[in-house]
Amino acid sequence: MSEKKEKLSRGAELETKLSFKKTCYFEECDEQKKEAVFAYAEGYKAYLDESKTEREAVVTSIALAEKKGYTPYRLGDPIKPGDRKYFDNRGKSLVLFKAGKADLEKDGVRILASHIDSPRLDIKQNPLYEDSGMAFLKTHYYGGIKKYQWTAIPLALHGTVVLADGSVKTVKIGDGENDPVFYVNDLLPHLAREQAQKTMGQIIDGETLNVLVGGYPFRDDDVKEKIRLTVLSKLNELYGMTEEDFLSAELCAVPAFRAKDVGFDRALVGGYGHDDKVCSYPALTALLDDGSDEHTVMVVLADKEEIGSEGNTGMQCALYEDVINALAASQGKDPAAVRNASVCLSADVTAGYDPNFASVYEKRNASLVGYGTAVCKFTGSGGKSGSNDASAELMGRIRKIFAENKVIWQTAELGKVDAGGGGTVAKYVSKMNVDTVDIGVPVISMHSPYEVISKADLYSTYEAFVAFLK
Ligand code: MN
Ligand code: MN
Repeated sequence: MSEKKEKLSRGAELETKLSFKKTCYFEECDEQKKEAVFAYAEGYKAYLDESKTEREAVVTSIALAEKKGYTPYRLGDPIKPGDRKYFDNRGKSLVLFKAGKADLEKDGVRILASHIDSPRLDIKQNPLYEDSGMAFLKTHYYGGIKKYQWTAIPLALHGTVVLADGSVKTVKIGDGENDPVFYVNDLLPHLAREQAQKTMGQIIDGETLNVLVGGYPFRDDDVKEKIRLTVLSKLNELYGMTEEDFLSAELCAVPAFRAKDVGFDRALVGGYGHDDKVCSYPALTALLDDGSDEHTVMVVLADKEEIGSEGNTGMQCALYEDVINALAASQGKDPAAVRNASVCLSADVTAGYDPNFASVYEKRNASLVGYGTAVCKFTGSGGKSGSNDASAELMGRIRKIFAENKVIWQTAELGKVDAGGGGTVAKYVSKMNVDTVDIGVPVISMHSPYEVISKADLYSTYEAFVAFLK
């Protein structure tokens, strides 16, 4: 550290007083804090590796919650102050809450809402075929992906199959040290002259995202499609499946990579599905670490955000409002008044400024990797279309909480005004008449099979949530 000058000039003093400057998290952090930040990331990496799909994230999250005394909640159950409960919504989304003593019509519910689904390749319902010495599964991609990024990388298959007799099988293959992996073929550069002329969206056609699953022929000359039969017999051996069982299956091809530290200094983490587990984990752990019985807190880990928060596991489902209403009823309060008094941090990732692609960002308003959790007043695209635009009053309230708790944070805007856009669950929470603002971790290479974040921003997000729940 350089020695600071004893006395600032009048101008320099005034400049310090009046100007706003972003803060680099690690520059402000002593050895002890750095250790805490790095230790927290270890827990996160383990969570991420076990939570590649929303179903797995629900299982992993429940295991952590039960360790802290959380028990299952059924709609209609009585709730009393101090209760710590979770509602497992069809194994695909999760609501956790801690019922507080404070008057809900005045204090409201403090909500942290994030999502646990991530872009991937879903296996179609009639997927298996053999062609030219190889067997494949047809896929239908889920969420916004750059299709070419999903070729020529090791993939794992995760999911659930409901067999004809109604029994449920869990599939998870490709991550273990000795597991086989799966693969989407790409074209060799030698023959890619025509492909190279195409635009990005057409380099890889959606119907060429077929997952390679076999190459060994079943030894029987009476069988026509021998490799296909080998694959079917393996599926039968492993999961008791027949081909018809694909009809009642949700299988996902996800990257087979594990989360790893990135860089010589290990300041960053690479992994699949940071969007949005990198916000779900801080939301979950902030709740589980909260020992107070004063405030009522609800954490939502939603599914289907990547395809518009649709369906009964997405944020547009009435369930989340039902739980708030149940909390209100437990105190004999008016549910509308409780929602009106509630505040939500919509916890989702944002685009970290990437100097390699500087032209799409507006640097003054972009979030920087390593500069703390990023509050996004509005999302949407074009003229804020589709955005939940948080009020100045809410921004002021959040800002004050962060200042009082010494949270290092920054603001974020996805990119240049005309460059594109995106949304989060914020607009669906705010529709319940809840004050809502977006906050989350800046991500590099968002929606790619291997995204990168800073450990500082992960921990700063946790600190922000702890401060918010206090
Ligand atoms: Mn997201
Ligand atoms: Mn996303």
